[in-house]
Amino acid sequence: MTVEEILHRHDLKNTGCRKFILTGLLQSETALSEEEMKKPFPELFDRVTFYRTLKTLEEKGVIHRIVLNDNSVRYALNGHHPGREPLHAHFHCGKCDEVLCLHGKTRLDAELPDDFVTREVFVVIEGLCAGCNRLS
Ligand SMILES: [Zn+2]
Ligand SMILES: [Zn+2]
Repeated sequence: MTVEEILHRHDLKNTGCRKFILTGLLQSETALSEEEMKKPFPELFDRVTFYRTLKTLEEKGVIHRIVLNDNSVRYALNGHHPGREPLHAHFHCGKCDEVLCLHGKTRLDAELPDDFVTREVFVVIEGLCAGCNRLS
């Protein structure tokens, strides 16, 4: 899938900032922080534009955010990799700080009290990625 196809599918105009963010996420195997996305051209977009664009992409269901234990935020594309459930767990490597979307449905057996409703479920598995595990 190309950036243009993703934007078209979500009925979004092709702005420079949207294109920049989606290009970065498409090329990355892992979820990215705002700083990591900006790294190739840190001065290209101002903070507000960047933030608003991320918000729009999130609201339109193009990307999703992952909040880690230290409250830092990463972003990843939705439905980019086929077979991934919309509700999925994430893996955070404590050594290299990499964050991945995981395949498979997140099973949650928690019982909600009567009349409670689930809106979102966040599951982050903390551990070591294969590369860091081999080195440790
Ligand atoms: Zn690692
Ligand atoms: Zn994810």
